[in-house]
Formats: sequence, structure tokens, C-alpha cells
Amino acid sequence: MHTSQKNILKKCDTLMLDMDGTILDLAYDSFIWLDLVPKEYAKKLGISLDDATAKLYKYFISLQGTLKWYSVDHWSDLLDIDIIKLHQMESAKIQYLPGAEKFLNDIKKYDIRVLLVTNAHGDILKLKSEVTGLDKYFDQMYVSHDFGAPKESQLFWQNLNDTEKFDIKRTLFVDDTEKVLDSARQYGIDSLVQITNSDSKQKQQIVKNYLGMTGVIELIE
Ligand SMILES: [Mg+2]
Repeated sequence: MHTSQKNILKKCDTLMLDMDGTILDLAYDSFIWLDLVPKEYAKKLGISLDDATAKLYKYFISLQGTLKWYSVDHWSDLLDIDIIKLHQMESAKIQYLPGAEKFLNDIKKYDIRVLLVTNAHGDILKLKSEVTGLDKYFDQMYVSHDFGAPKESQLFWQNLNDTEKFDIKRTLFVDDTEKVLDSARQYGIDSLVQITNSDSKQKQQIVKNYLGMTGVIELIE
């Protein structure tokens, strides 16, 4: 372990963890959105899978990084598909990333407040908690929808700090998305870690601007 990794937890009293791609395997979400939803959409419109995928990608591009992108209600209305139901049907595929549950167990021994900070929709968080039991590991769980802005927005961090009162100098934030980390850095959070192995079915992502770790377990091992 590098010295920077070993010390990064020591100087913090608050640990904020993203959910999808940090604690839970992004392969599930990729399967839902890049495989299952296009198939359902093609069926719904009576068009080819290629055409349905092309239509969907236009929506994906226009909504990326916005709260609507993360809103199951928005997608259900837009596509006329019950997105929650699709998630429920495939919920057996929801799983922790390697080492993540061990980390959550071990971090309990540390004198640190552990928070889940996610852009996921409340209903998805509920489903994922039911399947994995992840809620028992957190002192508090925050969903960006409740703050009216995604993590990519400064408004999210301001609203979160109004509720949680965290010290930006003593907070470690871990996420797999660079744009989200950029937003946290802009807000003033000093200690930032980017997860490189967020999807068990994809290659490791290249990290340029942040301290990269293959998984959260590296914070303590
Ligand atoms: Mg993520």
C-alpha cells in the first residue's frame, strides 16, 4: 500500500461512499440499461433492436449528468416501460463489488461516520438494500433526488452540507465517476478516491486526476 492510501482515511472523520460502481457492481445497471431496456423498448415500439438502441442513446446523451437521467419515474414516463419492474425481475443480479462488503464490515471498527451518497433513485436504493442488506452498514444514506440536484451539481453539495454538516477538510469521498469527483473537488472536499474496477464485466478504467483504487477494500488493506 502507498503511504497516501494508508493516510487518507486517518485524517477523516466522515467517509462518503457512492453506491453503483463503488460498493455495488455496475454490471447490473449496465445490463438493465444497455441490454434489457433497449430490448423492451424495441418490443414496445415494434422496431429493430438497433433502431431502439439508437433512439435510446439520443436520450442518454441529452440527459447524462442531470437528475432526470437518474430518475426512474422520468424514464418510465418517457419510454412507457415500467423501469422498476424490470429492476425487480432481474434483482438476483445485484451484487457487491469484490471486497466491498468486507470493507463495510471492517470500517465499523473505525471511529468514522459512514454515509452513502448516491444519485440512484430512492426506489432503486430500496430494492438494492433489500437484496444486499447494504443499508445496515451506513450511519445515514442520502439520495440526490431528495436535494433537488445530482452530485454533479454544486447545489447538491450545498444542500447536503446543510443537512449533514460535514467538514470538507475531514471528509473522504469515494466515487467511480470523474465528473462527480470534479464536483466534489470544486465544492472543496480534499480527499477524493476514484474506483477503477466499477463494473466486473468491463476493463479497469484509467484514472488521470484522482487517486485510483481498484475497490474500496484498498482503503484499509
Ligand atoms: Mg457510481
